[in-house]
Amino acid sequence: MIKRMSLISAYIALGCAATVLPVLISIYIANEDVARREQRDLSLYAEKAMMRTELVTYQGFAAIADLQAEHAEPCSPEYLKRAAHVIFNYRYVRDAGAYGDGRYLCSPLLGEVRTQDVELPPPRWRSNDGYLVWFQQKNPLSDLREDIQIGRNGEYVSIDPQSYVDVMDPAGRAIATINTELNSIVALSSGADPDEMLHAWKQAGRVDSDEWNYAVARSETRALGVVVKGRRTSLFRDWPGLLATWLSFGVAMGAAFGWFAFKRISRQVSFQASLEWAISHKTIDVVYQPIVNLATSECVGVEALARWNLNGRDISPNIFIALAEQHGLIQSLTDLVFDQALQDLAELLRSRPSFYVSVNVSGEDLRTPRFLNLINARLAGTGLRPAQIRIEATERSFLNADVTRQTIAAFRSAGHPVYIDDFGTGYSSLAYLQTFMIDVLKIDKSFVDTIAQDAASSIVAPHIIEMAHELGAEIVAEGIERSEQVEYLVRRGVQYGQGWLFAKAMRREELLAWLEARRASHAPAQPAIQ
Ligand code: C2E
Ligand code: MG
Ligand code: MG
Repeated sequence: MIKRMSLISAYIALGCAATVLPVLISIYIANEDVARREQRDLSLYAEKAMMRTELVTYQGFAAIADLQAEHAEPCSPEYLKRAAHVIFNYRYVRDAGAYGDGRYLCSPLLGEVRTQDVELPPPRWRSNDGYLVWFQQKNPLSDLREDIQIGRNGEYVSIDPQSYVDVMDPAGRAIATINTELNSIVALSSGADPDEMLHAWKQAGRVDSDEWNYAVARSETRALGVVVKGRRTSLFRDWPGLLATWLSFGVAMGAAFGWFAFKRISRQVSFQASLEWAISHKTIDVVYQPIVNLATSECVGVEALARWNLNGRDISPNIFIALAEQHGLIQSLTDLVFDQALQDLAELLRSRPSFYVSVNVSGEDLRTPRFLNLINARLAGTGLRPAQIRIEATERSFLNADVTRQTIAAFRSAGHPVYIDDFGTGYSSLAYLQTFMIDVLKIDKSFVDTIAQDAASSIVAPHIIEMAHELGAEIVAEGIERSEQVEYLVRRGVQYGQGWLFAKAMRREELLAWLEARRASHAPAQPAIQ
């Protein structure tokens, strides 16, 4: 029981491992793949944002150049007209005008403010090529509005910082534009945290976070950079839930496997136990199939065959004999069949001294003289002749040649003829079989079946019969079902036969009645009623 339980537990553990492991491995691989794709996608997004930043910056430069192109007197009517054109023509430019001595001078938006002393603080940054930049520059007209202002040689343009980060993105990923010399933020998409974005920029995007990915891009021509942030899809984020789901699935699978294994094992165990019980309680039946002289139709003996009915079902001898052999029960079974046969047929055998019963034995019975000793003991004082008890052994049971040869010789010298059963189905060569000194060969049904059939298969039977003759033994043909087979076999010198044409295997009473009926009628063998 403990062995069974531990086997079931092992199956459950195996089921869990077999179910959960591949799932976890695939999730891990998928997760890695998703992470790689997302990072690549985010880097592409950073490149795109960088292009946008450069585009806006260069537009600012182009607008200043355009303002200076006409060399109009700053703040003259022509100049202001020109500035209005620039504002109109350049999409990202919100104002354009003149400044000097720390003051705004004029623009189409501010008007003429030279006399009003509208202060312009010093720029935050100056580029190598002479551009001045004011970040988050408050517009003199409104406290709410902060622009990026780019100036050069007394002229400036104001740009809405949102233009820098205004990239179409359905996922709404955060962008920050960075001045790479100052390491400070130029523009930030709405809702983004400036400290976080700056930190990510300084780490070149390599921020340890389970939730977010970061990527950076740098301009090749200007001191500009971009950092972007996107949400990370982790298949492992909900790993406890995931594991719980798959583990319960694994347990269910394992339990199913375990249950299946349990059923199988217990069926096998109970099957074996039932056979053991049937043998020890002698509930195995023995039936007898007549063996007839083919030329005279006289029944010369019978073969004892074991029958087992388990819960109303007849189990094939091929199955339970193999089971008995596997589990060391075969010797008790052989004894049982022999004892039963002797009990059933002793009277008949005594009344017909030439009549015999043949008993099937297995390899195990031929390893020692045990069964021979049992036969001798049982026959003592019964008045039966040893030749009335015959032994059938298949070629397979001869495998252990040296031991078997001795036992077979002992059976024969004790007067029990020995038969090779199922002749032709084993692998033994004629030369090998000749070393055994056998009395009778039983040609297997599979060869007898081919007799008087189509040409291709009927070449086998004569060959087998010839081999049997060569061994110098008498022959019994097994499984005769048609009268043509009898004619053929007699022609080929086969003396004996057994099969449904004459009779199926029968219980003692049926056999006795069958024998009686034949004797009364003196009739030749008739096909058995099926
Ligand atoms: P086997 O010793 O060659 O027995 C002959 C088998 O052929 C029997 O099958 C018998 O019922 C069947 N048979 C005989 N004539 C005909 C026929 O005309 N047509 C057909 N279709 N079948 C026929 P069974 O009783 O099922 O036994 C199968 C095998 O199981 C036997 O083959 C024998 O090897 C083994 N066996 C049966 N009883 C015992 C036993 O007590 N001890 C051992 N060791 N083996 C046994
Ligand atoms: Mg047999
Ligand atoms: Mg046979």
